[in-house]
Amino acid sequence: MVTVDCLAILDAISLPVVLMDGEGGIKVLNAHARRLLGGSEPTHIAALLRTDGEAFLKMVRRNRQCAHLATRFIEPLQHYYPASSRVCRAGEWQDCYLIELMPRDLAVGAINRLSEIRRREASLQRNYVRARESERTALSQAYQDPLTGIGNRRAFEQWFQQLCQEAVKGSLPLSLLLIDLDFFKRINDNHGHETGDKVLCAVASLLSNALVRKGDRVARIGGEEFAVLLPNTDASGAHDVAWRLVKAMRRANQEVKSGPDWQPVTLSVGASSWAPGSTLSVPTLMRAADEALYLAKEQGRDQVVQLRGAD
Ligand code: GH3
Ligand code: MG
Ligand code: MG
Repeated sequence: MVTVDCLAILDAISLPVVLMDGEGGIKVLNAHARRLLGGSEPTHIAALLRTDGEAFLKMVRRNRQCAHLATRFIEPLQHYYPASSRVCRAGEWQDCYLIELMPRDLAVGAINRLSEIRRREASLQRNYVRARESERTALSQAYQDPLTGIGNRRAFEQWFQQLCQEAVKGSLPLSLLLIDLDFFKRINDNHGHETGDKVLCAVASLLSNALVRKGDRVARIGGEEFAVLLPNTDASGAHDVAWRLVKAMRRANQEVKSGPDWQPVTLSVGASSWAPGSTLSVPTLMRAADEALYLAKEQGRDQVVQLRGAD
């Protein structure tokens, strides 16, 4: 039921309003609507519409809360544009609709403004996505060695911390290989820095390709120094992997044509491992691998030396 108060409110609205039930029966025309219609008292919305009433009703029924309806009224309402609202009473949506008739100019202007706002929102959203992407790119670049494309020292340090935590948590061994190219200075001196750079790239991809386990990580941590992290790998596994890398490098040398001043590229590897049961510390594991690498150099290079990494 439409109360007297309700009618007074509808009459006070400066736009024409039609209160209609779910069947399209007109329950109320406010004062403005009555004035527009000049005394005619239509009882069904179809009488006001240029399009057929059923199609209009379908659109209204689809309406959840408020919608602008793409339909036209007959004269004298032809300059009006219907916007419907579902009516909610006592917390329930009623099968009853309030059709506000907005001057078409106003409605079209508002819709244009709305589309403009949406366009701006979409453009802001696109800019935001682009900014996030370039932020991500910058972040990944901060962890990437620009020459070889593999992880850099920063990436290595982060992986190392993370893998240490996972090793302790899962009670799983962890191994570290520090790799230094032998007599690399000579390559630069004899063939130039550019060739030296190409060799570094070739070594980076050789190391990456030789690591077969998914969790293994390789980084370039210095000029001609690389580090390999081997999660869930004990000393014996680390020994195998380290030698596999040294031998892969030896094989690669055999495949390269040798000129008169050709010099093979070989690797010295220092390996250290941690086994569950003792304290795991990054500096201890690093120190042990570094000492092992020093020994590998001392003992003639192109080889692996292994030291325990426990305190
Ligand atoms: P060792 O077997 O004792 O390791 O001898 P080495 O010549 O490899 O060792 P050293 O540390 O004396 O020299 C490392 C050289 O690596 C010196 C430097 O010119 C070169 N180097 C470091 N970073 C780069 C780089 O980014 N590109 C090139 N081409 N060379 C680099
Ligand atoms: Mg070095
Ligand atoms: Mg070196």
